[in-house]
Amino acid sequence: MRTPLIAGNWKMNGSAERVRAFGEAFAGDRLPASLDVAVIPPFPYLDQARRAFARTPLALGAQTLSPEPAGAHTGEVSAAMLAEFGVAYVLVGHSERRQHHGETDADAYRRVCAALHAGLVPVLCVGETLKQREAGATRDAVLGQLAAVLKPLDADRRRRLVIAYEPVWAIGTGRTATPEQAQATMKDIRTWLESLDSDLAQTLRLLYGGSMKADNAAELLAQPDIDGGLVGGASLQVDEFFAICQSA
Ligand code: PEP
Repeated sequence: MRTPLIAGNWKMNGSAERVRAFGEAFAGDRLPASLDVAVIPPFPYLDQARRAFARTPLALGAQTLSPEPAGAHTGEVSAAMLAEFGVAYVLVGHSERRQHHGETDADAYRRVCAALHAGLVPVLCVGETLKQREAGATRDAVLGQLAAVLKPLDADRRRRLVIAYEPVWAIGTGRTATPEQAQATMKDIRTWLESLDSDLAQTLRLLYGGSMKADNAAELLAQPDIDGGLVGGASLQVDEFFAICQSA
């Protein structure tokens, strides 16, 4: 009932050559039709990627967006610009944006609204730090981030999101949450969604992110509340990313 989604976040990596290689490797129908796959390159490659991915099942994502519609915001990119270049998904609240660019839950909410207004699917990233996990505060941290964005949205807009649960201590560290740890938090998320709106809980896709690789993806993706993956480092090599997609 929930179509799995595998999204590859290239972060500030990539090149024209890598875009070309992905377009070539994913051409044709080599992946199951019941799987959504997105590649999220840095902004300058979006237009090239749109053309290179035209004959592939790859959708396009962006790594962030401005909450503003237009104007004097040097260095920013609006939701409408992303939509004009064929972007379908946009990351919001990634932990690197929260940690290094000071983005707050209130910022995430404004970005989600901007994305939805332009018809993009926001992939809202939430996750606890190591300190919060060790203090037994994982559930509160994650549900607090979710509540700040989902509660003010009406039911219609909530349904258009994807949620990525990414424990901060597992991102880019090579330290993956065990399938049991990931499932336990994803179940807490699903149960909380249930209390908000039972239909939403059944339909919203929950991705796991944090050092997902070809050799641990199948076990993580087999968990009942994990509907896909947000993949960072392992999405940079085309063969490894393809293998992760095949495990979904
Ligand atoms: C990410 O950037 O969202 C991520 C999960 O990174 P990595 O897979 O490298 O941990």
